[in-house]
Amino acid sequence: MEKNINIVIDKAKELGCEVLINEPLSRYTTFRVGGAAAALIKTETTESLSILFALCNKLDVRNFVIGNGSNLLVNDNGYDGIVFKLEGEFTNIYIDDENIIRCGAGATLAKLCKFAAEHNLSGLEFAWGIPGTVGGAAFMNAGAYGGEMKDVVASSSYIDKDGNPGTIDAGELDFSYRHSVYSDNGFIITGVTFKLTHDNAVEINHRMDDFLSRRKEKQPLNYPSAGSVFKRPGKEIYVGKLVQDCGLKGKQIGGAQVSEKHAGFIINKSNATCADVCSLIEYVQNVVLEEKGVKLECEIRRI
Ligand SMILES: Cc1cc2nc3c(=O)[nH]c(=O)nc-3n(C[C@H](O)[C@H](O)[C@H](O)COP(=O)(O)OP(=O)(O)OC[C@H]3O[C@@H](n4cnc5c(N)ncnc54)[C@H](O)[C@@H]3O)c2cc1C
Repeated sequence: MEKNINIVIDKAKELGCEVLINEPLSRYTTFRVGGAAAALIKTETTESLSILFALCNKLDVRNFVIGNGSNLLVNDNGYDGIVFKLEGEFTNIYIDDENIIRCGAGATLAKLCKFAAEHNLSGLEFAWGIPGTVGGAAFMNAGAYGGEMKDVVASSSYIDKDGNPGTIDAGELDFSYRHSVYSDNGFIITGVTFKLTHDNAVEINHRMDDFLSRRKEKQPLNYPSAGSVFKRPGKEIYVGKLVQDCGLKGKQIGGAQVSEKHAGFIINKSNATCADVCSLIEYVQNVVLEEKGVKLECEIRRI
């Protein structure tokens, strides 16, 4: 395996990519936990990403794309494979038609939301404050305050496992709650096209400010976390309340704690390890199942 990883690393260097060997993934996740990846490769063009992704798959080298790492829990032992980070052309955003924005998968939602507001385009306000990239948000069908990616995505471009580029229209993206076609097909999202509606920038900014202040009020944003740990088990069932009703607010294992501010969040209170977080997740799941008969499923992706 190490030999094959080295073949990919050599190819990446030949293609002019920045390659970081034994790179701690705690630096790239909002939880600030996790061991090192064998290599983290920064790719700036579709061409180099296609070549490297196809090569990894051909040589059976494990790999994944990291966005902003805001929905990831990386094992303390690290990742014996390649992590791709999308930079350069993947962070570009531009207006394609009067209400259509094309955006690289590596751009942050923050940059996209600002861009849309500046161009008097509405629809992305819900995403203001979600600390992810466009690729990560499309992958997860990220959503908040009644909005979801599925409401605004018109199509998305990808690279398949053989390195071939393609496009999928919204109807085929199989969006559902925190799921898209990409959650199953193993492709890399390279870009997303959004169809928005015209509105006044002042109104758009007002809605964005409102959503952000609600986040600041309710969420423990001063501690590292990966947001809501569990998926909502039903339309009217709120995880935070369930966990709180089980008396688990503030429950701590090692450095990981069920947030005192919002019991749907687990925070890295002080130098938590991935093992601490996983133990706490399991503990919460067991207590909630025993006391409320509800099975909580993780929203966070584990690496
Ligand atoms: C404080 C806080 C608040 C949050 N609030 C919300 C919220 O309101 N709503 C919500 O939905 N989420 C929320 N989240 C979770 C998270 O921000 C979102 O799920 C976000 O969309 C993840 O994007 P990311 O770029 O960080 O993805 P990452 O965490 O880096 O990756 C998530 C998954 O997407 C995959 N992926 C990333 N980019 C690509 C790509 N280009 N191609 C293929 N696969 C890719 C990764 O391999 C991984 O499996 C919150 C998180 C935090 C820390």
